[in-house]
Amino acid sequence: MDEHDAAGEVPQVWVGCLGCYNDGGLAGEWFPASDAPTSMAAFNERVRCVGRYHLVDGHEEIWCLDHEHFDGVLDGEFAPSTGARVAALITDLTTGQRQALAAWIAHTDTAAAALTDEHVQRWRQEYVGRFDSEQTFAQHHAVDTHAEAMQAPPWPFGHIDWPAATLHLFSTDYWSHPAGGGAVDVFAEA
Ligand SMILES: [Zn+2]
Repeated sequence: MDEHDAAGEVPQVWVGCLGCYNDGGLAGEWFPASDAPTSMAAFNERVRCVGRYHLVDGHEEIWCLDHEHFDGVLDGEFAPSTGARVAALITDLTTGQRQALAAWIAHTDTAAAALTDEHVQRWRQEYVGRFDSEQTFAQHHAVDTHAEAMQAPPWPFGHIDWPAATLHLFSTDYWSHPAGGGAVDVFAEA
């Protein structure tokens, strides 16, 4: 578990003008997602280096064409207001927690761009933590739920078939997602 680690890096977005982009130009800038312009008026005020076509053609739409440090929670391109909303929801989460949230979003078919605080609360309830392996979690879980028996003399509890016990646990009450280096993020089935 890494809940005591510092929050992940501040999500950043590259907000660009779609009109320029469609004409093959790049007018835009990096901003912290929570403080990015969400209207063309604000964009024009804060992004000075735009080609003259931008103003002459009266472009109307801005979009986040690139991003950093959402740690998989948001992907692809999205509206600046979406970036700001999602950034606010994940601002206090560590990088590992954001990755676990991204895994949960994919697993539950949640639309990341429509992520709400309610989703994050559900994820908090279902996310158990990061473990070295599924079997490590199974052994922790056994101690958590059967402490006395697990502390008993070696027979029979010292002879558990852990691979089989782990397989059963992860085909019933839990699921996991690879977290790199052989570790897994473990979630309770909803
Ligand atoms: Zn433009």
